[in-house]
Amino acid sequence: MVFPLAAPTVPIAGSPFCFPVRRIWCVGRNYPDHAREMGHDPDREPPFFFAKPADAVVPGGGVLPFPTATEDLHHEVELVVAIGKNGANIDASEALDHILGYAVGLDMTRRDLQAEAKAEARPWTFAKGFDQSCPISEIRAVAEIGHLDHGALTLSIDGTIRQSGDIRDMIWPVPDAIAYLSRFVALAQGDLIMTGTPAGVGPVKRGETMTAQCEGVGQLGVLYR
Ligand code: MN
Repeated sequence: MVFPLAAPTVPIAGSPFCFPVRRIWCVGRNYPDHAREMGHDPDREPPFFFAKPADAVVPGGGVLPFPTATEDLHHEVELVVAIGKNGANIDASEALDHILGYAVGLDMTRRDLQAEAKAEARPWTFAKGFDQSCPISEIRAVAEIGHLDHGALTLSIDGTIRQSGDIRDMIWPVPDAIAYLSRFVALAQGDLIMTGTPAGVGPVKRGETMTAQCEGVGQLGVLYR
């Protein structure tokens, strides 16, 4: 028996085309205030990455089932980069040429499972790469909005702001993150890069509405039932 595979996709604003998601790479601890709140020194040590499966994307967010196996589901609002041009060993000075567009996304995290994984020196897979762990807005094309080196990045729950940062504060700005990541894996059309979260991460519960916003990019709403 053959099962037709439905590739996960993310709509591109103002375009008849969707972005077919190939891989999702995530940068860890890329904002100084978030590194501090997680108990780390925000010196410019090399960035580190983890991954989510491509089908973790939930385009447009919406009403979602509360994830299994956690009592401590955390929000992390992030600028997401959509790669539109293949490349390996990309130089930072040319990295922006590889970007098709930007979105705002949520790196949803089962923080209790992550704490266990850290304590046991195990991978973060079940903490980060679970089903529907990447709600994401539509992609705004560079051709429409240009490139972003600053802009408010916020997350509110039921109207109260919980995370408030600016993408200019990234320890590893987007071109540097692309350059570094592409030394280890070839990047290709369809890759998404979640670029890290500012301080204020915390739990979200059933019945609460999260609104994620990135200035110049868009917004995203999620409600867990
Ligand atoms: Mn994150």
